[in-house]
Amino acid sequence: MRIVLLGAPGSGKGTQAKKLADKYRVPHVSTGDLLREALAAGTPLGLQAKAAMDAGQLVSDEIVLGIIRERLRAADARNGAILDGFPRNLAQAQVLDEMLRTLGQPLDCAVLLDVDFDVLLQRLAGRRTCENCGAVYNIYTNPPRLDEQCDRCGASLHHRPDDNEVTISNRLRVYELQTKPLVAFYRNQGKLEIVNGTGEVEEIFARMVTVLDPVAKGLRKPKLPLPVKPKSKAKPAKTAKAAVKPLPKKPPAKSPSSKKKAARKPVHAKSKPAKAARRSAKKSRKRR
Ligand code: AMP
Repeated sequence: MRIVLLGAPGSGKGTQAKKLADKYRVPHVSTGDLLREALAAGTPLGLQAKAAMDAGQLVSDEIVLGIIRERLRAADARNGAILDGFPRNLAQAQVLDEMLRTLGQPLDCAVLLDVDFDVLLQRLAGRRTCENCGAVYNIYTNPPRLDEQCDRCGASLHHRPDDNEVTISNRLRVYELQTKPLVAFYRNQGKLEIVNGTGEVEEIFARMVTVLDPVAKGLRKPKLPLPVKPKSKAKPAKTAKAAVKPLPKKPPAKSPSSKKKAARKPVHAKSKPAKAARRSAKKSRKRR
């Protein structure tokens, strides 16, 4: 199974991707994780990516595509992968299509995790991760039993440096402008599935599985968007006869005499000046 997880930062892609990778036995490939690993290891590539990551901007396509190309060629990705956080723009999506075509492993589908803006903000600001085992918590909605300590392994929890207010708003803006157009891109390929990403982790996972089980079994059919009807300006004529517009009727020709009459006819027979004239004529007649 080869799928792309789409969704805004904080939509829960990482959490769901880990669970899906376990269930369908394919690797979870997150470009964000790969970049953070490169940064932690102090590789030139990681250091190059740092400034963009700290600012909540996208790392250059060149760096990201280099990383992903190498990752998808690895032996464990031969049977598929859950791609999380990649592609992030149209150029990356087109290169991914090309890359997978060359490898003879086309993408099965793209799942959009749909979450409201307010929920995204709360999730990002409250997110804490365990750097030791990868468990994810939220201090508002899913807090650990002990403050800042992982329930699973006891290691201390970590607040991602790019989960601060300024960077969060940049990341959400970048998503709207650059990543959201991928929804239409995959819809037009018939590969888009949309899953409601609000609620409990297990609840969302169950929705994902409902959508992805047919994919894993090779039973999913492409969902092509309905063709848009071309807008016609004029209503089509029902019959050929109706299509021929009758010529407008000519007004009856006026005879020269009627023209004259019309010319002589006073326009304002009972206008105020005429009345006044009549009154003064009456007065002068009386005087006489
Ligand atoms: P994530 O963990 O997916 O939220 O990614 C964290 C940061 O890594 C992002 O804000 C970007 O700076 C960078 N990043 C991750 N994936 C990509 C990508 N596909 N293209 C460009 N930058 C990326």
